[in-house]
Formats: sequence, structure tokens, C-alpha cells
Amino acid sequence: ARPTDKLTRPQVGALLEGIRDVLGESLAQGGTSFDSLYVDVNGQSGYFSRHLAVYGQEDRPCPRCGTAVIREQFMNRSSYSCPQCQPRPRRRA
Ligand SMILES: [Zn+2]
Repeated sequence: ARPTDKLTRPQVGALLEGIRDVLGESLAQGGTSFDSLYVDVNGQSGYFSRHLAVYGQEDRPCPRCGTAVIREQFMNRSSYSCPQCQPRPRRRA
């Protein structure tokens, strides 16, 4: 949720590294989409969705701490997170 122009250079580096790791892992398992439009040549969806801890789990307990998972909408998408394990950055005054 943090504007990209507020990220420091080390934060951008850490973010890029995290994105590469997650996308690489997802691609290795054929992707995440469970939509019938996104299948491989054999008609199979990717298996990465099995690794999603809280996606689509609004109000259900976080598997790590038990806090209710929250859903945030933006554009036409949704983001799911645990407010305890993934706290929002503190706002500057
Ligand atoms: Zn949690």
C-alpha cells in the first residue's frame, strides 16, 4: 500500500528480490490461476494456489496466528492479509 516513490533504495531491492522469488516459485509450479482460461497445453491449472496461505480466506483464521484475515479491494482486484503478521506501515505525521 506504500507509494513507490516513498520506498528507499534498499526497500526497492528487497521488494524486487521477494517478487523474483515468489514469481519464480509460482512459475516452477505452473502458475497460480485457477481460472479455466489459464491452463497449460494439457488443460491443467497451475499448482501454486495450494501455497497461498490467506488468499480468499477473508474472516477465516490466519494459519500462523489465528487472527481473522482481512480483504482489501483495489481496482478490480483483492488483496488478503493478516493484520497481525503483516501489519501496515506506520503513517508519518
Ligand atoms: Zn497471522
